[in-house]
Amino acid sequence: MIKNLIRPFQEVLLERKLCVGCTNPLDQAKKMGNLSDNRFIVQCRCKRRYVFDKEIGLFQRASLAEEQQILREIAKRK
Ligand SMILES: [Zn+2]
Repeated sequence: MIKNLIRPFQEVLLERKLCVGCTNPLDQAKKMGNLSDNRFIVQCRCKRRYVFDKEIGLFQRASLAEEQQILREIAKRK
């Protein structure tokens, strides 16, 4: 029952481009880098990471693989 309520609520927040943890606007989150031409990853002030997909125009929670990919690229830049 509770799961059924929480999941759509998180989706509504993401549709509004708000962090599901702290509801901070993801438009203002710090951009970490590009995963591909159409996708980039941002980090909210609460450290949650999201991927923005330009084709669908939506933020989604970043997967572990996506987080690792971007962290490797940041490490290479240094
Ligand atoms: Zn947040």
